[in-house]
Amino acid sequence: MEQEITAIQPQLTQHFAKLINENRLAHAYLLSGASGTGKLSLAVWIAQGIFCNQRNADGTPCLKCSECRRIAANEHPDVVRIIPEGRSIKVDQVRYLKSEFSKSGLEGNRKVFIIQDVEKMTTSAANSLLKFIEEPNGSITAFLLSSHANQILPTIVSRCQVVEMASLNRETQLKKLMDAGVDKVVGSVLVNLNADFDELVALGTDEQFQKLLTEVVNWMKAILADDWRAFVYVQTRLMPLVDERPAQERLLELMVMICRDLILLRYHQDDEVAFITEKQMLAQAAEQIPASQLTKGVELVMNCWNQLAVNVSYQNVLEGLTLRLCRCYHKR
Ligand SMILES: [Zn+2]
Repeated sequence: MEQEITAIQPQLTQHFAKLINENRLAHAYLLSGASGTGKLSLAVWIAQGIFCNQRNADGTPCLKCSECRRIAANEHPDVVRIIPEGRSIKVDQVRYLKSEFSKSGLEGNRKVFIIQDVEKMTTSAANSLLKFIEEPNGSITAFLLSSHANQILPTIVSRCQVVEMASLNRETQLKKLMDAGVDKVVGSVLVNLNADFDELVALGTDEQFQKLLTEVVNWMKAILADDWRAFVYVQTRLMPLVDERPAQERLLELMVMICRDLILLRYHQDDEVAFITEKQMLAQAAEQIPASQLTKGVELVMNCWNQLAVNVSYQNVLEGLTLRLCRCYHKR
């Protein structure tokens, strides 16, 4: 079940409840933040706060009345959502929005519109929207949502109040991933990766990625055992799983992560460990290695990005890394 926005974004919901209560909402907001931070949920929640029949004293919506439920089901005539058609938001969609609003503007109704992925607006759609924002018809509140606010026309941004959505803490994000069907073991690794929420969910249910996790662990086990087969694993077990550059970079991220786990365990910071099923094995190994060498291990992996930037072959980079890590952890 989806987590409530008040749990995901407590400060922002509190802030907006106050604005609703005091009738001080701005005309247009740009909600900016990574996928999964609750932009749409927040916009819907504020709309509920505006229209709710039984609003709580603190300005929060009841979520139970007919208005609240119609808005949640996207069936409210005065709350209009626009999502990209195909790859873009087209001028016709903005025109539709305008015509919808000019009708009821005559009746003096309060209106809310929500545009998702606003960076996907064509230039003509953006220009059409601009005029609309500048000359509001009736009392309108606009929510523009984007995970890539830097791609939005500055003229649009300048007419909105920009709201940065706080990124989720580790625990919340893990719970969201698990709600989306990702296994906890895989999710614990994913929350450390640099990617959009949708991308993380896709990885979390991808068999190839799970194999990769297994092989990274096997590779590290061999290194920690000072077993020469770690070198061979690069070609036989890791390379077949990463045929393209994005996957290759992801593998490096996983290697940084498992080296970092050794440091965390050495300092007994168990909560942040990525490879949770390997905690015991990694903790035992970390006890045997000086902390300075563990830190150096992470640096060795990070250096791989520089090597790739100067076009050293990927397999060579990993093989070199394997030898260096063996030397580093076993102090030769
Ligand atoms: Zn309500």
